[in-house]
Amino acid sequence: MQTLEMFTTNNGSDHANGTTRRRLPTPREVRARQPASSEALRFVAASRQGLADILHRRGHRLIAVVGPCSIHDPEAAVQYARKLKPLADEISDTLLVVMRAYFEKPRTALGWKGLINDPHLNDTFHVEHGLALARDLLLQLAAIGLPVATEALDPLAPQYIEELVSWSAIGARTAESQTHREMASGLGSVIGVKNGTNGALAPAINALRAAARPHRFLGIDADGRVAVVHTAGNPNGHIVLRGGDGGPNYQGPAIARCEAALAAAGLPANIMVDCSHANAHERQDGQLLVADAVAAQVVAGNRSIVGVMLESNIAPGKQALCGVEELAYGVSITDPCLGWEETAAMLRRVAATLRQPLLRRFASDQLPAVQR
Ligand code: PEP
Ligand code: MN
Repeated sequence: MQTLEMFTTNNGSDHANGTTRRRLPTPREVRARQPASSEALRFVAASRQGLADILHRRGHRLIAVVGPCSIHDPEAAVQYARKLKPLADEISDTLLVVMRAYFEKPRTALGWKGLINDPHLNDTFHVEHGLALARDLLLQLAAIGLPVATEALDPLAPQYIEELVSWSAIGARTAESQTHREMASGLGSVIGVKNGTNGALAPAINALRAAARPHRFLGIDADGRVAVVHTAGNPNGHIVLRGGDGGPNYQGPAIARCEAALAAAGLPANIMVDCSHANAHERQDGQLLVADAVAAQVVAGNRSIVGVMLESNIAPGKQALCGVEELAYGVSITDPCLGWEETAAMLRRVAATLRQPLLRRFASDQLPAVQR
């Protein structure tokens, strides 16, 4: 077996099968170089609390996870954040806006794996630089005052950045992985678990059940030493419906099926709709239709939808990553995104549509069921 050979041949040389290893600074060293201020940590704690309040029906708002599919240009991400922040404040009575800052991209087969893995976008894989860039952007976003959403993909990466993240995705391709469920059980952020790329809900539901419980598994400590990690379980998880091979899953019947599956698993009815990906047939404008349809369901009395996700950038669409020099500014190099103008109009429209209905929903949530 390939893996066995790696450990039994070449006298344990690091070069078996062409594998080499280069040491990275430890999480403690990176965090000391780029420390989080106490204000930043307080801001993240308050943001996580605001998200958890929505999941536990202590807050009336919807979560809106909004931003680029992936970050490849931190300066453009800061410019995006400076546009998003005033809008987030404007609609903060109705939507708790969280900015997507995705540094790790799971690929269906191959492709650029994100800013941490290859920050120069040219297969030079300067992971140390990628971690520093990611951490620096997270510090800037905390200073701007935007909570951050990211995908937790590599199980070691959270040690370097987690304390600055308010919401973490477990993606459609990894929700079935025990490693990711264990990792999620120890994250301090709220976790959103995607349904499978084939549309199946079971992997996400099983992931939520698993992540809510304590686990013991192999990981690293702050000094980079291998350690047995004990986690307490993450009480703040919800499913994210992103559509699948069979088509979208944001319409009423799909939401009802998801509610039934959550109830059968003993999980609370907390659903975020990802307006992008298979729900939008991978087209940026498809997101507008989905977001309006989701808002209409809430107006019509839905109680389980707690959030929406939009993929949005400074400029619309996507571009191929041919050469770094040729890249257009503020355009996605992964999934297609809404441009800023459409994003702002969409968020304002959803907020205006939901302002009163969400207050009414919250008020009736507080009444005993029999009086509803
Ligand atoms: C994403 O949010 O960009 C993403 C990769 O999502 P999914 O895991 O649903 O494909
Ligand atoms: Mn995407």
